[in-house]
Amino acid sequence: MQAPLATLRQAADGEGVAPAAERRRRLQQVIDMLVDSHAPLVQAMDEDFGGRPAELSLANDILGSLSSLKHARDHCAAWMQPQPRQPFAPYEQLGAEAWVQYQPKGVVGIIGTWNAPLYTLLSPLACVLGAGNRALLKPSELAPRTAEVLVEAFSRHVDPDLVQLVTGGPEVGAAFAGLPLDHLVFTGSTAVGRKVMEAAAQNLVPVTLELGGKSPAVVGRSADLATAAWRLALAKSVNAGQLCISPDLVHVPRERLEEFLGAFQEAYAGFYPRVADNTQAVAIINDHHLARIESLVEEARGLGARVETVPNEEVVAGSRRRPLSLVVAPPQACRILSEEIFGPALVVLPYDSLEEVIEGINAGDRPLALYHFGEDAQERRRLLEQTLSGGVTLDDALMHAAMHDAPFGGVGASGMGRYHGWEGFQEFSHPRTVFKSPAQDPRAEWGMLPPYGGHLREMLLAQVTPE
Ligand code: NAD
Repeated sequence: MQAPLATLRQAADGEGVAPAAERRRRLQQVIDMLVDSHAPLVQAMDEDFGGRPAELSLANDILGSLSSLKHARDHCAAWMQPQPRQPFAPYEQLGAEAWVQYQPKGVVGIIGTWNAPLYTLLSPLACVLGAGNRALLKPSELAPRTAEVLVEAFSRHVDPDLVQLVTGGPEVGAAFAGLPLDHLVFTGSTAVGRKVMEAAAQNLVPVTLELGGKSPAVVGRSADLATAAWRLALAKSVNAGQLCISPDLVHVPRERLEEFLGAFQEAYAGFYPRVADNTQAVAIINDHHLARIESLVEEARGLGARVETVPNEEVVAGSRRRPLSLVVAPPQACRILSEEIFGPALVVLPYDSLEEVIEGINAGDRPLALYHFGEDAQERRRLLEQTLSGGVTLDDALMHAAMHDAPFGGVGASGMGRYHGWEGFQEFSHPRTVFKSPAQDPRAEWGMLPPYGGHLREMLLAQVTPE
């Protein structure tokens, strides 16, 4: 890992600020790599999951990454323009100038996940390269075939002193987080995020942590229930729920619980009448995660929760595709109420009042996403103002993450920092303030030089005012 870092470091140190045309050329290399290699990458993701439809891999990982890369390519010239700032009095009268210039930090490390094995590497990479940096990437060991194809594709298309990849599991990840990088982007679980931040702190490496959590959806009393259930069912089905912003809990008005459950089941079964042998359905990544999700559901069932399965079918041996479990009003002790599900299960919580919903959301860790359905503007405003989450989609789910022109990131336990668009460019740049002094120096004339005369203190004290 030291050798690839040294290659990148040497190139970064000798370079200074890469001009816009060079950044666009570099981003285009990665775009060309993805366009050229999309078919083997889609195939590799299918193999890694043990079943993932090409449509999902194309939409989420190939096109999602391409959108970020193209957005950075098309905007980096404007983003990197120095911003003039107003110098302070009296220097602004004397011809002083000031500006903020955005400079590359240097070499940025990016650690990715298996659930969106390309997107979690290449979408941050777009802003990293747009900001003029070089990058060291570590794909997830749970998507090894994708990592292998990616390493080979990068080696054919992208300058070796621009992007390097290292592969391996948690030990490699731990060593990676301890490298003297200029910035580190980590996407993964909150538990590992804590370790990453601790390791990075040893070298004072700034971190962007893109973590997970339990994203809630609130179905208001004014919502069109059929639409809300249909949109939530569709969102929950994406990647079989193995998505950082997948709805994890749904708050439903108590008197409409049965109506919601019926509409949700009907919608989900409409998309997936069968799952076990359905190549359109996404499999759970491995047996460990399958057992983890099943144990969350079974514990809740064992403690008395009602569990509805959709579609209702037998488990087929050898398949890791599973129906969705709706876990209704589980008792407080259930782990499914505190641990991120990250799979095909959804907790449904009936509520009486909005206060109780807001209290419930605020009692837990800050979620990565929050969803609200309903026409009631006051209710929407209260949810937006009285809770905090990484991002929000109103009257749907997942959509805000597709905004390439707006920041994506968590808050509190769901992460820190952000990427996408202008805010992502800023995240990976150093905003350097430059002040250019005028030819005329007013300090002697103003009696500001030592030894200080009595009137300087009077002049300074006269300015200690509340206005
Ligand atoms: P994970 O935390 O288990 O692993 C993520 C990466 O960290 C892998 O590449 C792994 O090899 C590496 N790693 C493991 N131990 C490490 C260590 N000690 N130091 C440094 N790196 C280490 O997460 P996962 O199972 O791959 O992904 C699922 C989690 O990621 C979920 O919590 C999900 O919500 C979250 N996620 C967040 C986002 C987001 O954008 N916020 C996107 C996708 C997934």
